[in-house]
Amino acid sequence: MEFASYHLWSQFEPALGWEDTHCQMQRGWRWTQTARSDDSHSVPFTETIWQKVGKLAQQGVYEFHRDPLLLKHPRGCERVADRLYLYYEVAVVRDRVMQILRQYQADPWLRDRQIVLLNRGDEPIPPPIEVCINEDNFYLYAAFDCIVRSVEREFVAQNRQQIEIIDFKTGIADPDLRQADVYLLAGKYLYPDFDVVASFYNLETMTSSELITATPERLDDIAHKLATIAKLHQQQLQAYQLDPTSFDRLFPPHPGTHCRACNFNYHCTYSAA
Ligand code: SF4
Repeated sequence: MEFASYHLWSQFEPALGWEDTHCQMQRGWRWTQTARSDDSHSVPFTETIWQKVGKLAQQGVYEFHRDPLLLKHPRGCERVADRLYLYYEVAVVRDRVMQILRQYQADPWLRDRQIVLLNRGDEPIPPPIEVCINEDNFYLYAAFDCIVRSVEREFVAQNRQQIEIIDFKTGIADPDLRQADVYLLAGKYLYPDFDVVASFYNLETMTSSELITATPERLDDIAHKLATIAKLHQQQLQAYQLDPTSFDRLFPPHPGTHCRACNFNYHCTYSAA
């Protein structure tokens, strides 16, 4: 069955304000690698510094909650850093993650929340959710960083409970609200008896976004959008398999300064890097 995810959506269409750096050919390279018979085209993914910081910061929060005594231990941050092998990282990564660990130890805001799920970030992809929207069915993949449960004061009389899906962030870029859209749609299927909300929490600036919600109509729109993307993506992959020479037409290049940070610039003949 066709599938969709936030990552596929973001590879299909740029986030607001990122139009200049968006390149469809990157999606082509990513998704056709398994279809290529020549293994020499296989491109290893390299992480940027901010991706590395984000991954290690999430792992740090996870380690604190796996062993909550570390939250109060005077050398708790160093112990967590050991578990993350932080001292093998380059200084800029090490310093930023260490700062995040110290901030989190000083204000472990998740400690008082009812944690339903807290992921380390390197778990296998979770099972897909089958989304049905009119005639279109597709598999939705959504990996969550953290889920907490709460009974909001205004819901007590109705005994309604709320599930909050929290995505951890680092850095200064604004979060992409489409990620929250996908979480809310996934939450509707996974937690049908709960009010589902989403939020972003920046571990570096220690700031949380507003709670994000979606009406049933909005969730239908999101499902339609993802169904369209899932179908088009499969059609393009099949067209490529039938005619590999159509690669450039199916996944048009958009070179620019962003080619420097592209994982495929070594192989891409359009690279401006
Ligand atoms: S190197 Fe540039 S043109 Fe080629 S896939 Fe990457 S971003 Fe696109």
